[in-house]
Amino acid sequence: MLNIVIFGAPGSGKGTQSAMIVERFGVNHISTGDVLRNEIKNGTELGKVAKGYIDQGQLLPDALIIDILASVLDGLKDSKGVIFDGFPRTIPQAEALKKMLAERGQQVSAMLDLDVPEAELIDRLIKRGQDAGRADDNLETIKKRLVVYNEQTSPLKDYYKTEGLYNHINGVGALDDIFNEIAAVISKL
Ligand code: AMP
Repeated sequence: MLNIVIFGAPGSGKGTQSAMIVERFGVNHISTGDVLRNEIKNGTELGKVAKGYIDQGQLLPDALIIDILASVLDGLKDSKGVIFDGFPRTIPQAEALKKMLAERGQQVSAMLDLDVPEAELIDRLIKRGQDAGRADDNLETIKKRLVVYNEQTSPLKDYYKTEGLYNHINGVGALDDIFNEIAAVISKL
């Protein structure tokens, strides 16, 4: 089974490339951000808690998001594989994912790091805020999310290098060119 971690800063194109990976390779897509936005839309208790963190550009506590991820994973049936988008975002989350997959006789197959310079990330996120109306895509929250990414999430690059699973992907340019680089990595797994 393919278990791919798609990694990168907010605005690096994880969601867009995930959709293309799903279409080509027939894997399931788990986006923790989408799961949380759905809870908010449905007005659940979890949604209320999540909204507080998301609006502040902060991460949900590890224990909470790990539980959510585990239950989404348990809900998948007959899966050819999973693309994990927006999870893990901290070292404890990466360790939890490793353990969760090991308990199911599986492992992370590859981590893809979509690399995009910060100035371009900010431009893309502001544009997404205007087009898609995501409440956390405003300049103040974008800046907070990038600080959180640099401090809490980017150390995962070294974590996955140590695991021998790291793959650098140039995240700038035509979508198809970016996808071709990703597809070449996945095809070799
Ligand atoms: P995303 O759509 O992946 O950019 O996620 C939007 C927001 O959801 C983040 O800014 C966090 O507040 C929250 N979130 C999503 N995934 C995680 C995660 N793995 N750990 C903690 N918080 C998360």
